[in-house]
Amino acid sequence: MPSPQAGQVVVKIEASGLCHTDIHAARGDWPVKPKMPLIPGHEGVGHVVEVGPGDSLVQVGDRVALPWLGHACGHCRYCVGGSETYCLTPQYMGYTMDGSYADYTLAYASHVVKIPDSVSWIDAAPITCAGVTTYKAVKVARPQPGETAMIVGIGGLGHMALQYANIFGATTIAVDVEDEKLQLAKDLGAAHVIDGRGNQGEELAALGGVDVAIVTVPSPAAMLAAHESLNPQGRLVLVGLPADNRFELPVFETVLKGISVIGSLVGTRNDLLECFALHASGRTRVVTETRRLEDVNECFDEVLSGRVPARLVFDMT
Ligand code: NAD
Ligand code: ZN
Ligand code: ZN
Repeated sequence: MPSPQAGQVVVKIEASGLCHTDIHAARGDWPVKPKMPLIPGHEGVGHVVEVGPGDSLVQVGDRVALPWLGHACGHCRYCVGGSETYCLTPQYMGYTMDGSYADYTLAYASHVVKIPDSVSWIDAAPITCAGVTTYKAVKVARPQPGETAMIVGIGGLGHMALQYANIFGATTIAVDVEDEKLQLAKDLGAAHVIDGRGNQGEELAALGGVDVAIVTVPSPAAMLAAHESLNPQGRLVLVGLPADNRFELPVFETVLKGISVIGSLVGTRNDLLECFALHASGRTRVVTETRRLEDVNECFDEVLSGRVPARLVFDMT
């Protein structure tokens, strides 16, 4: 049972989603390594059960989400400019600080986000990272109503990205390499579904190419294929974070077509509030299966096999 300092709260975790990032963290995949030992998890949701000394923005009993951005300084140019996820001295939940694969988690009162009463714990958990991350990725891509938006990878992140791209008014194209995911994309309203195991380039060209491509798959090959499919003035948004960390950017095509390559990291507290509000008003569907935290290692294997229906969520109620 952690003990809160001033500005901190203790949250009893009711549900915690399994983001692919947790697997990267556990394996030390990325150039910047997590703290060790580490409690992973950044899709935790639960009740505040204790508040540190002094004034607090949240009270005991509040329902809150504990997103990836565990803390930001609040005064650097990025925090002040509304881009707190690019804070110069951030803390990441389940990476630089202990996360929500736990009964009780310490969080900063300033950076937990309140969850509307009508959003269930199991739905709120994936929205806390998969939702807000892809909502932001769609926002920065600025899709227009007459444009096509391709979502590559219809997993935890991608199944939300697809719904947000529809909400933003683009004509959506979903790409995955698993039959169940392609069916899921149809069920969630993708205008077109493309099997990434086939000749993706030809099929995309027949659809008139792609204006926005959001790549959630941690695969440089998928990023390059998405780049190749872009129309003039297309936007490639990189979201998946491959262990190999590089893809070869075709400079000539990028220049001649005026293509933008954009990195996008999670979303702000405001973005997350917007995602919860969209969900509360019935505009998104979160596809999950629940698991027990004790089975976390089998769950990692399940996610890596690609056969998980969108998101696994540890039910801790
Ligand atoms: P996931 O495992 O749930 O989903 C991956 C999906 O990609 C699966 O549906 C799989 O079938 C599909 N896929 C695999 N290979 C493919 C291919 N070649 N073409 C098309 N589809 C393919 O993973 P997730 O939790 O959605 O996370 C995805 C990535 O996003 C991870 O690398 C994670 O670390 C990263 N991530 C980034 C941010 C960010 O802020 N940028 C936030 C969260 C997660
Ligand atoms: Zn995540
Ligand atoms: Zn800052």
